[in-house]
Amino acid sequence: MSVDILPIVTKNVHLEDSHTLEGARANGVYQAIQKILDERHDPGEVIETVKASGLRGRGGAGFPTGVKWGFVPKDHPGPKYLCVNGDESEPGTFKDRLLMEEDPHLLLEGILIACYAVGIPTAYLYVRGEFGLAYRRIQAAVEEAYQAGLLGRNILGKGLNMEIHLHRGAGAYICGEETGLLESLEGKRGQPRPKPPFPALQGLYASPTVVNNVETLCFLPSIINNGPEWFAGIGFERNTGTRVFAVSGHVERPGCYELPLNVTCRELIYDHAGGIPGGKQLKAVIPGGASAPMITADEIDVQMGFDTLAAIGTMGGSGAVIVMDETTDIVRATYILLRFFHHESCGQCTPCREGTGWSYRILRRILDGEGRQEDQDLLLEMAANIKGGRCLCPLGDAACGPLESGIRKFRHEFEAYIRRAPVIAEGGG
Ligand code: SF4
Repeated sequence: MSVDILPIVTKNVHLEDSHTLEGARANGVYQAIQKILDERHDPGEVIETVKASGLRGRGGAGFPTGVKWGFVPKDHPGPKYLCVNGDESEPGTFKDRLLMEEDPHLLLEGILIACYAVGIPTAYLYVRGEFGLAYRRIQAAVEEAYQAGLLGRNILGKGLNMEIHLHRGAGAYICGEETGLLESLEGKRGQPRPKPPFPALQGLYASPTVVNNVETLCFLPSIINNGPEWFAGIGFERNTGTRVFAVSGHVERPGCYELPLNVTCRELIYDHAGGIPGGKQLKAVIPGGASAPMITADEIDVQMGFDTLAAIGTMGGSGAVIVMDETTDIVRATYILLRFFHHESCGQCTPCREGTGWSYRILRRILDGEGRQEDQDLLLEMAANIKGGRCLCPLGDAACGPLESGIRKFRHEFEAYIRRAPVIAEGGG
């Protein structure tokens, strides 16, 4: 792995005053949008550049960014919007917060580039409500950018107009789902919408809308400055560039690590995050946020790309890597995750609303020593009836990730709890 190209989006985060306009300009921020406007790049050319870079969304689904932009109708007569998803709420994920706190002008430049490419005059930035410092820094950055002629009318004297509005969330995980976010922005309950129609055709206020993640947008200036081939040369085919992995749990040095997508899970944990404290053995890893199925210590030589993780039955998701050592109680960990998903279910879909609640109550009784022999198969059957397109949004499927992988890969731990359980009379309990 070549390290001389690293890092890309986190290169400024430890520099003094990186969050101010003066600091950002000293770090080269706003050079890419200046270049686009000075050289009069056609918006379509910018979309093609992003497509050629292979950039995929870093929020969860990993959808190709340039392709997503291409779905927005060019000749739409009414308004179009960019909604920036800064509602980072996936348990274990904290990389967008770092970028918003430490380099808000880089994000604003990414927003400008996206808006220029798609012909969007208005952007909304939805920031997770709990991110106080991030919100304040973005607010200050937006004010500085307006005063410096980097936002508003006739940006950089080149005739480009763009307004940006900030919106602070109120603590609901489901507002990180793109259509839940749109509902929330419109002042409604953050309940996901049926799709189609997709936001590219009918999103915010029923207008064509692009929803992009914070980290995704932060890659755009570097792609413009260095060219798509440069970005596509990092990582591997269809999994290009770097991503910021938020590593937590049982590691010596938890934190954010920006690495190419061909880094292995083992390298990330042992070479970068310092390994497991106290010489303990690794038991399991959640490689892409709480929704991602767990992998075992035997599977950590997998590369951390979207496709390589999918090939072993898990996913890159939000880039959050939760490390669990040999002392971790997988039954309890699964219970805690299911309790979270049940709490955050918006309640529109019966399989999600009832299935997550029923699952976590069964897990609770297993933990309480009242588990039944049939409970594991019952949980797997319930997961099969939650996922697979039965719900409006991915939360139902997400809840099944830890549930199914926990049982399938650590069945002996569930059995140990159940064996300790008192015999329940038939029909009882
Ligand atoms: Fe709401 Fe769950 Fe249905 Fe998503 S899957 S819309 S969170 S009930």
